[in-house]
Amino acid sequence: MTEVSVNVAGSSQDVPTVVVNGVDGASIRQIKALQRPISVAGVMEHALQHRERVGVQDFVLLEDFRSEAAFIDNLRKRFHENIIYTYIGNVLISVNPYKPLPIYTEEKTKLYYKKAFFEAPPHVFAIADNAYRSLVYEHREQCILISGESGSGKTEASKKVLEYIAARTNHLHNVETVKDKLLQSNPLLEAFGNAKTHRNDNSSRFGKYMDIQFNYEGAPEGGHILNYLLEKSRVVSQMSGERNFHIFYQLLAGADQGLLQHLKLEGRPEMYKYTTDNSPSIQKLNDAEQFRTVLEAMKVIEISESEQREIFEIVASVLHLGNVKFVQNEKGYAEILRDNNSIHVAELLKVDLTKLREALTSRTIDARGDVVNTPLDLEQAQYARDALAKAIYEKHFSWLVSRLNASLAPKDKDPRASVMGILDIYGFEIFPKNSFEQFCINFCNEKLQQLFIELTLKQEQEEYLREGIEWEPVDYFNNIVICDLIEARHQGIISILDDECLRPGDATDLSFLEKLSQKLDGHAHFKSHRKVDVKTQKLMGRDEFCLVHYAGEVTYNVNTFIEKNNDLLFRDMQNLMTSSGNNTVGCCFKDLNLLSKKRPETAITQFKISLNELIKILSSKEPSYIRCIKPNDFKMPMQFDEKLVSHQVKYLGLMENLRVRRAGFAYRRTYEAFLERYKCLSSDTWPNYRGQARDGVQKLVEALQYEQEEYRMGNTKVFIRFPKTLFETEDAFQI
Ligand code: ATP
Ligand code: MG
Repeated sequence: MTEVSVNVAGSSQDVPTVVVNGVDGASIRQIKALQRPISVAGVMEHALQHRERVGVQDFVLLEDFRSEAAFIDNLRKRFHENIIYTYIGNVLISVNPYKPLPIYTEEKTKLYYKKAFFEAPPHVFAIADNAYRSLVYEHREQCILISGESGSGKTEASKKVLEYIAARTNHLHNVETVKDKLLQSNPLLEAFGNAKTHRNDNSSRFGKYMDIQFNYEGAPEGGHILNYLLEKSRVVSQMSGERNFHIFYQLLAGADQGLLQHLKLEGRPEMYKYTTDNSPSIQKLNDAEQFRTVLEAMKVIEISESEQREIFEIVASVLHLGNVKFVQNEKGYAEILRDNNSIHVAELLKVDLTKLREALTSRTIDARGDVVNTPLDLEQAQYARDALAKAIYEKHFSWLVSRLNASLAPKDKDPRASVMGILDIYGFEIFPKNSFEQFCINFCNEKLQQLFIELTLKQEQEEYLREGIEWEPVDYFNNIVICDLIEARHQGIISILDDECLRPGDATDLSFLEKLSQKLDGHAHFKSHRKVDVKTQKLMGRDEFCLVHYAGEVTYNVNTFIEKNNDLLFRDMQNLMTSSGNNTVGCCFKDLNLLSKKRPETAITQFKISLNELIKILSSKEPSYIRCIKPNDFKMPMQFDEKLVSHQVKYLGLMENLRVRRAGFAYRRTYEAFLERYKCLSSDTWPNYRGQARDGVQKLVEALQYEQEEYRMGNTKVFIRFPKTLFETEDAFQI
């Protein structure tokens, strides 16, 4: 080891910091005081001590990188030191601290301007800055994919990216309104699309992909949002202890008397069936305040007062609709209880009251040209009422997104504009009981995993090619076989489900299951309900099937698959809604082509189509990944539940991710940057070096005694397979 004079300083937070004669490199400039000169060996010693306490900042540095226990141990050590971010190469792992940390200040933000990874501690800002620079300076479109289970911090991370971009582009003129609109889109969408659940007080109940569009200067000039699978069943029922979408409570708590009167609302959620709060609300105090935030956001987004009024009329109409009650008449059919509820609904939605009552209690069927009006029984009428409430809310949510998009659209489209996308979407779900929703969500995660494999490998291969380095194939599990099992034409699960839904006659959830078992028996990733589970020796339930996903086995219960996939809203209701005098309602329902005899696409097929479009958008971009982890089930700070974390490490495929990263050259830097940072580690390059950067790096790696197998010299970058020594030093630089 080369002997070089090095100083070590202690920072105010009792963390040793390494300084190389107090001169070099960005992080070195943060050093508070120089204390005593030591050798490079001394630096290593400090690095080791430090590592013992706070773990490594990149998992590729783990000695035992195949051990999940070592992986979790590293996360835990860092978590207890309030260090929530760690890398696997260029993938950021984030553990929810469940408490505010002073790591998002203006000062910290600036620390990441124009910094490469490793020049500052791992952070969501580093991901944002790297993406931003690649976009603006290298003209490569970017996407940031955020995944993790409910409550793990995805939405918070996506907001931090947005806030960072806003701060980073502060010096660029004329972008304030666009930035404000982009930032304000969050409170607005959260009010309508988020709810309190057991897992998260502010849980996003929809998937979201947001594009930020930048002009040639790198200033944000617009945005566009795509939304996926709003959990509309929440509109009509919630699990005990959970709530409906925030906006219902916010409106009731925050609207002024005039608005409440206009909407015929009384100020308590307990009065309405759909918001009968099952739990003492922790948010009650906040709801009124949040309502003002929503109004403010609407103003920024330029939603006019008359539009606002229509929006709240729709929200209120859903509450009144929930209170519509039916009684059974002497013929055994449903009749509406004659109270004010249906009157309020008709008034607010500006539809004909008689027609509304008819649509809620009867159904017109067109049987080969013969139009027959059939009355509904009690259960059917309740189903129709709830279906209408869900449809109104869901369509209105999509309308709101398109309204937001109209406001976010860039004024003049710049042909040189480029785009950074942020995806905040539900992670893999394995519950004790899994239904249609989990099936959709897990399918989405399979597709994203497939994209991850394709993009990461493609990105790697392209870089090796550019740099003139021989590509070494890496062995990994390709989940395309599972994607095919789900979505292949004719033989895939989606296709079988759709066939069953469209089949006239007596299709049921169980007949669907039977078809699945017939057609897919023997597939390595499908387990039929007729088979004994080898692990548990238990027969699966008669209404269950099991898929071996890339992230683990999930047993699905087929109950309600057919109904949810059909997603029927009776034609009379649709007709009624298109006739609404409320412009917004009219707009929401007008896309339904009522004249067409063709059935609309089923729910899963619509989802499949939009998912494939999303994958196409993402494939054209360079990805960055943020994987979020929830440390405990109690929303508590400082609690690290190893078992829970271990599950997520599995579902997120992190061990496989690390293995693949370690199989190639884990670290790479341009010659100039590498030399600038590490020149102090060899007397050949420090204190003075005047030659070519590439030659300097060659001298440096020789001085550090790297073996030929350990590194490659590319056209512009040095590639290091497992730069143990270097990384350990770098670890110390980071403190
Ligand atoms: P869901 O899938 O349910 O939408 P999510 O992954 O989007 O969940 P968030 O809403 O981002 O989860 O986070 C849940 C809560 O955790 C936040 O409301 C916040 O209280 C806390 N939290 C998340 N990230 C951070 C962070 N970086 N710092 C402090 N608190 C955080
Ligand atoms: Mg969220």
